[in-house]
Amino acid sequence: MTHLLVVEDEPDLLSMLILNLTSRGFQVSSATDGATALQRAAEQHPDLLLLDLGLPDIDGLEVIRQLQVNEPTLPIVVLSARSSSNDIVLALDLGATDYVTKPFEMAQLLARVGAITRRPSSDRRKEVVRLGDITVDRDTRTITHATNGTHTLVHLTPTEWRILDILLDRPNALVSSTELLTSLRGDAIHTDASYLRIYLAQLRRKLEPVPSQPRYLLTDPGLGYRFHP
Ligand code: CA
Repeated sequence: MTHLLVVEDEPDLLSMLILNLTSRGFQVSSATDGATALQRAAEQHPDLLLLDLGLPDIDGLEVIRQLQVNEPTLPIVVLSARSSSNDIVLALDLGATDYVTKPFEMAQLLARVGAITRRPSSDRRKEVVRLGDITVDRDTRTITHATNGTHTLVHLTPTEWRILDILLDRPNALVSSTELLTSLRGDAIHTDASYLRIYLAQLRRKLEPVPSQPRYLLTDPGLGYRFHP
């Protein structure tokens, strides 16, 4: 059973989270301040931490900082009430895995938790992925677009394949721009986030039903990208 530690000081939100997560089969423990969170994390070794950033004692960012030292493999999903994405950027830089902004839909939170707790995905990797009318066969490296009974092949460059593979490997998970750029570093020139925007635009032009309104390959502005199945 997956064990989640939920750190949230708003009683109503905490009860709602515990109720929903427990009913979905998670083992849930909780803390309402940062010091208790650090203590529980050290004692219980949960599989994932849901962390409110605005805590009554120590800042959530400080909790992340300390956990990176003491529990470096613990995935952290940040719950941020702050509309400014600044704290989210800081949290991700410090090592948080993903985030949701309050108010959030429970379905969205569950998708993000599931994206992390279902890893490692290597044995679950889907070889055939459908994006609407487009079928991506990752095994044979072929992409076909079915329209009106005819199939046309879609060609991707090696770099586009690399980016698509990383995103498809982790449905619903945030893949930071930094991670994508790091994985492309072998490809000489791709060290600038603006290259990513160009590659994503190309991928969307080839794979999205309406490239200007992405349905599958989503941008988290300033943070990264995610595959929405
Ligand atoms: Ca709070």
